Amino acid sequence: MTDTSKLFCSFCRKSAAEAPSLIGGPGVHICGVCVKTCNAVLAGLPSDGFGGWDQLEEDALLANLERSQSAHEAARAVLQQQIDELRRREVSWARIGEAIGITRQAAWERFG
Ligand SMILES: [Zn+2]
Repeated sequence: MTDTSKLFCSFCRKSAAEAPSLIGGPGVHICGVCVKTCNAVLAGLPSDGFGGWDQLEEDALLANLERSQSAHEAARAVLQQQIDELRRREVSWARIGEAIGITRQAAWERFG
């Protein structure tokens, strides 16, 4: 069984304990509250949206840094998996670099 103690919503940063209905995607999770917010936005209804970082006190911002870093690392891992699959298919570094707006050399150095 998966250890969910370190999972958190990629949008509001609530932990699995704070937001027990987390839904997973490739490198991301979303909680039920954020799903409801998304549904309201998609339906054109008013919503509270997602608060900006400027709404948080310094201690709350500092407490969020580790989760932000984890989210960044998870997104980076997904990107690397996609690039690894492209390389397995022998797609050139030039095409990969072009797809993400960097040079062939930069793509190889960053992901090779
Ligand atoms: Zn959330």
